[in-house]
Amino acid sequence: MFDKILIANRGEIALRVIRACREMGIKSVAVHSTADADAMHVRMADEAVCIGPPAGTDSYLRIPNIIAACEVTGAQAIHPGYGFLSENAAFVQAVQDHGITFIGPTAEDIRTMGDKITAKDTMKKLGVPCVPGSDGGVPDYETAQKVCEEIGYPVIIKATAGGGGRGMKLAESAADLETAFRTARSEGKSNFGNDEVYIEKYLGKPRHIEVQVFGDGKGNAVHLGERDCSLQRRHQKVFEEAPGPSISQELRDQIGKTCADAVANINYAGAGTIEFLYEDGEFFFIEMNTRLQVEHPVTESIYGVDLVREQIRVAAGLPMSFTQDDLEINGHSIEVRINAERLPNFAPCPGKVTQFHAPGGLGVRMDSALYEGYSIPPYYDSLIGKLIVHGRNRDEALARLHRALGELIIDGVETTLPLFDALLAEPDIQSGDYTIHWLEKWLETNLQ
Ligand code: ADP
Repeated sequence: MFDKILIANRGEIALRVIRACREMGIKSVAVHSTADADAMHVRMADEAVCIGPPAGTDSYLRIPNIIAACEVTGAQAIHPGYGFLSENAAFVQAVQDHGITFIGPTAEDIRTMGDKITAKDTMKKLGVPCVPGSDGGVPDYETAQKVCEEIGYPVIIKATAGGGGRGMKLAESAADLETAFRTARSEGKSNFGNDEVYIEKYLGKPRHIEVQVFGDGKGNAVHLGERDCSLQRRHQKVFEEAPGPSISQELRDQIGKTCADAVANINYAGAGTIEFLYEDGEFFFIEMNTRLQVEHPVTESIYGVDLVREQIRVAAGLPMSFTQDDLEINGHSIEVRINAERLPNFAPCPGKVTQFHAPGGLGVRMDSALYEGYSIPPYYDSLIGKLIVHGRNRDEALARLHRALGELIIDGVETTLPLFDALLAEPDIQSGDYTIHWLEKWLETNLQ
């Protein structure tokens, strides 16, 4: 096992990894920008190294600085968290070239899944059902017209390199196609340096269901059921739950096995998420994330496992500490993402936190790097915390979320917290009856 791990990230996910390291008796190294010198991950780690000025591109994304920090501190492995370099194949390669272990899959798997066209093609070959659409990339508008006539409108044009909800454009009818096609291409080019796009049938009322998989890199893999992340704003998740309210045990076993078999087939190592749209009883693959997800705690809550610990074990060459037969769902879990943003427009709202009180009690977990007196810097993602609850069933989890939200105090900055009290009062949320379009529609009528 490693003696020392460097965490190439910040915020709550850096704390999450430090916690796992500490429980395993492994020393942790934090890296930070000059803007994060007072951040909680720096305080909590055993050692800390400054890797550059505030901008992410000059610090958390600077590969040579991170590798140098590893060499200076003698860290043997790097945990990338999510975001930043977590899905950057060149980073993984550089890490390995320096004799350091990357805690995650191989550079090759990251590259395959990072390109959505190759990912879809690979999954199709591995027997995973995909959204109907173009066969690979669509080179020009004329080809796009032909493809859309075949699959029928509405369609969604997606940049193959896209992510985080960017590089996707909807065309309701043939009249919108040209603009959508050209915009998706230019967004792909400007945001991700790649203008290749593909086309998918746009599904009208799906749920976003994602399957957590875990592989040991030696051809063994398990699934840890699904999460329903349908409540989204601008294609970004806001509220996540496990198990999915619309998924039966039979369906879970079936799609879970398909996913576990697919990743076992490619000798996948570590945690991964296979994302689907689910409509009328059918699953359609959209993408795979080759890292730990923001919403992984809901899975941890219902299965009682520590996914970061497993990632570290597998990276160290040890077997997973559970088999598929050991994994049994216990109760229900919900996570809400708390952002430092001002409603109703969700404008980022960094600043000084004058009061902070985290909720507690049975079944409540608060993953956050906030503390009283902390100044949230303006340079990074506005996620400042995740409140995760667990109950014996969905109703209990909802009641617990309501209770915990009532205890949580974050003063000094505006947050998205008021949104969740309002959502919990909605009958559709109480019954679990929502699709990926529900929240956008609700925001239009309730938050203007
Ligand atoms: P990203 O990599 O940017 O997260 P995804 O392909 O995972 O992009 O899609 C993000 C979200 O966009 C999905 O969760 C869903 O809400 C919506 N979406 C993606 N593909 C489709 C589709 N074919 N039909 C309808 N909605 C879609």
